[in-house]
Amino acid sequence: MTNEASQPEERADQTDRTDRTNRKNLWAPWRMEYIRSLAEPDDGCFLCRCRDETENDDANLVVWRGRRTLAVLNRFPYTGGHCLVAPYEHVPDLTDLPTETLTEIMEMLRDLQQAMTRALKPDGFNVGINLGRCAGAGLPGHIHAHIVPRWEGDTNFMPVFGRVHVVPEFLENILAEVRRAGEAMGLPKLSEPI
Ligand SMILES: [Zn+2]
Repeated sequence: MTNEASQPEERADQTDRTDRTNRKNLWAPWRMEYIRSLAEPDDGCFLCRCRDETENDDANLVVWRGRRTLAVLNRFPYTGGHCLVAPYEHVPDLTDLPTETLTEIMEMLRDLQQAMTRALKPDGFNVGINLGRCAGAGLPGHIHAHIVPRWEGDTNFMPVFGRVHVVPEFLENILAEVRRAGEAMGLPKLSEPI
């Protein structure tokens, strides 16, 4: 085995630590690129760009568009299938959104859960919203919800991929699989049909 080939295992050992709450942390080093990008000059809001570039949904990894929201695969995922649901409005807070939009965010999350369950067969999900940069929001100006599929043992599994950047083909495949599952299941099934 070459030295290089042994690195993922070494990394796996390193990340098999637990923190003080005895909770294992995901190792997702490609997110460093994302975190660094936050410190770079603002080249606009990528969620607004996804909203506006309606002809570019494949390249922008847009899964679905609703009346009031869109679902986009995260280019810097914690796990494969990590998805964002955002309102079309560029606003920072839940209080900025009308009830219909809040409802559609939840409907999108619900339907993504179903489509991803079929397409990716995860064992569980994390779903949440970070409000404010100190709370972990990478894009605090444009509120968005996260849905992150999880697999038993993924805290050990992910380090294997930890030394490489997430390849675009990987994201394209997931996009295609989730869209296909959604189509087969008639999703998204929104209370205000698209
Ligand atoms: Zn925006």
